[in-house]
Amino acid sequence: MRTETELLADVPEGLFIGGRWETTDATFGVLDPSTGAVLKTVADATPEDGIRALDAAVAAQAEWAATPPRKRGEILRRAFDLVQERADDIALLMTLEMGKPLAEARGEVAYGGEFLRWFSEEAVRIHGRYGINPEGTGRTIVSQRPVGPCYLITPWNFPLAMATRKIAPALAAGCTVVIKPAELTPLTTMYIAKLLQEAGLPDGVLNVVTTTSSGAVSEPIIADPRLRKLSFTGSTPVGVKLLKQAADNVLRTSMELGGNAPFLVFEDADLDKAVDGAMLAKFRNIGQACTAGNRFLVHESVAEEFARRITERVESLRIGRGTEDGVTVGPLINEAAIDKVGSLIRDALDRGATLHTGGDRVEGPGTFFEPTVLSGIRPGSEILRQEIFGPVISITTFTDEADAVRQANDTEYGLVSYVFTEDFARGQRLIESLETGMMGLNIGVVSNASAPFGGVKQSGIGREGGFEGINEYLETKYTMTPNPFA
Ligand code: NAP
Repeated sequence: MRTETELLADVPEGLFIGGRWETTDATFGVLDPSTGAVLKTVADATPEDGIRALDAAVAAQAEWAATPPRKRGEILRRAFDLVQERADDIALLMTLEMGKPLAEARGEVAYGGEFLRWFSEEAVRIHGRYGINPEGTGRTIVSQRPVGPCYLITPWNFPLAMATRKIAPALAAGCTVVIKPAELTPLTTMYIAKLLQEAGLPDGVLNVVTTTSSGAVSEPIIADPRLRKLSFTGSTPVGVKLLKQAADNVLRTSMELGGNAPFLVFEDADLDKAVDGAMLAKFRNIGQACTAGNRFLVHESVAEEFARRITERVESLRIGRGTEDGVTVGPLINEAAIDKVGSLIRDALDRGATLHTGGDRVEGPGTFFEPTVLSGIRPGSEILRQEIFGPVISITTFTDEADAVRQANDTEYGLVSYVFTEDFARGQRLIESLETGMMGLNIGVVSNASAPFGGVKQSGIGREGGFEGINEYLETKYTMTPNPFA
């Protein structure tokens, strides 16, 4: 593996527009959340730069749409191979800019890289249909066309996967894109853009703008009539704001927003499996995942035992910089995250919850927070309403299945739910009664490139991955022709 310095020197620092890396007068530093040190200084785009990136995407659109699907797929496949070759580099880069332990970063390379392979295979499976109308007087031809230039906005928590989950289906469908990664973690996206360039992607098909002014740069792009699609992953409040902006331009939108996942443990669950699942659902990404278990709803007869076992496991976690061997919990992304997690815990304790372990930040440098277990969360506590986005297990009890379903659905979010039960019929009932776009049945992780990821209610609109993922970037075109025999 290369050293941190060698790797960082290999990451581009400019804006990627029309196939060229452009430096700018203004720059900003990307920080290592484990130390607070500046990792690298990168270009800070202005709104004019954003429009130039859109110009490049618009200029490349017609030719890319006309590029044979097999060729589009082969470029994505080469990019997948390059991601495998550079897996160590990409993992280290994510650990440096985002903080997750290296083993988890490697997991994200496997997951995030897979979108390139999956959609390289989907590029050649864009189908239409031909039919006779019921009256027999005409023929209907239904075809799929690329939507057109897309603007992709991604969050900081999964720097690779959130980018490839959008870039790969867009390119496979024949769309050109401008992508704006989060200010906190732009390096992985820049590195991936470089790999795609190396894989043979034509100039202008992918453009990257990094900026400290996400609102000011995004607004004119979203308002530009040449843009045809906005795909956003991030918080629900920002998603709502962007949907309003997109409405003025009647844009196609995909919204992957926040979550408040219920994690249900029934009295008939295998508790060992449930504890393993809870550790994954909660501590992956240091709790900073939209899919993180947020409310652990446990049947009253097993809640005490569940709390005891999970506390034992949580106390065995090791906090530290993600690059160190054996570390299982890295830092939170910044001070604001520390404040939010701390205040949710204080609110729960003030209202009568019990603290089993953790509860505090770890003295700096870096923004580390102790893995925490709380039980007896009282109704009305903020921790039941908000996304925690930190390493905190909060346990509440339920009395029966109806009570579990009522509590689980008592949120405006609907991304994912987790259910632990050995009763198959109960599992089936819950598939139908829980208001979430995804469900983990006796498993703590649902993400997979072959599956349609996405939420209902205020967790979003649309799906990423699976057969569905490419449809987000395709328009249906229908043509009527007369009966050729008439
Ligand atoms: P965020 O604050 O909403 O930011 C997400 C992205 O939007 C970033 O690139 C951000 O850029 C940009 N942004 C912020 N304000 C904007 C504006 N006014 N106009 C245009 N862009 C704007 O979310 P985050 O803190 O990065 O990510 C955490 C959230 O993402 C959580 O709520 C989590 O649940 C959600 N998430 C959802 C999924 C999913 O698939 N459903 C997956 C991962 C994360 P800057 O940061 O540079 O300002």
